[in-house]
Amino acid sequence: MDVVLTGTGSPLPDPNRAGPSTLVRAGKTCILIDAGRGVVMRMAGAGLFPSFLAAVLVTHLHSDHICALNDVITTHWVMSQGSATLTVYGPAGIAQFVERQMAALEADIGYRIEHHDQLTEGPKVDVIEIEAGDSFQVNDITVSTAPTEHSPARPTIGFRLEHEGSVAAIVGDTLPCDGVDTLASNADVYVQTVIRRDLVELVPIEMLQDILDYHSGVIEAAQTGARVGVKQIVFTHMVPAPSPDQYSEWVARAAEHFDGEIVLGEDLTTITI
Ligand SMILES: [Zn+2]
Ligand SMILES: [Zn+2]
Repeated sequence: MDVVLTGTGSPLPDPNRAGPSTLVRAGKTCILIDAGRGVVMRMAGAGLFPSFLAAVLVTHLHSDHICALNDVITTHWVMSQGSATLTVYGPAGIAQFVERQMAALEADIGYRIEHHDQLTEGPKVDVIEIEAGDSFQVNDITVSTAPTEHSPARPTIGFRLEHEGSVAAIVGDTLPCDGVDTLASNADVYVQTVIRRDLVELVPIEMLQDILDYHSGVIEAAQTGARVGVKQIVFTHMVPAPSPDQYSEWVARAAEHFDGEIVLGEDLTTITI
């Protein structure tokens, strides 16, 4: 199983970090988790296109995690020449979001159908709204879910993907909670969106202070990893985004609480388990 970071950014624009997104590949099955800004470009950087996707999983409806879903859907439609269906799993509200994206793209869809004989109808998207706790199968990858804590964004759902004994937990934006513990339990890799509380607290901007109460800090993520027996922690969606010369400090803080491997993610960082 490969875990490819197809975006390690946050809502704050960063030329080196696409919006939050992670891709899991096992055998011939590719699953995208979230679709932040620029994800299709990063997928291309990994040699992957939306037409290769077996499914998209959405953790929650914050814009930074879904703003490029329209690009994934449209590119999947065009590159598969209208022949394939894209399945999207997500929390309540994802069906309406996709429906409205399709409405926004109505003119484009009409132009392409008129212009290309192969395209006789708009994008085929099968949207499945799930509840935290549901499990399902995407080809030979087993996906289990649990509720996470990112209020007032609700519901929010984290994912655990298993394939031939390999386990990846990709939990999205969340405080430490029982759901994350369940998903990450004994995982080979635990991908956590993180902030640095000590640095955010120094910035006198109220909207930035607001993020403190619904994200895991680096130390909390490390404590979660240690508590549930994770082998490797991968940080993504870092706020504030560190420059490479700061990576070692981030890792050192986490390493005080976690003995396993700690990876500070960059776009296209790939972990093979
Ligand atoms: Zn969020
Ligand atoms: Zn986010």
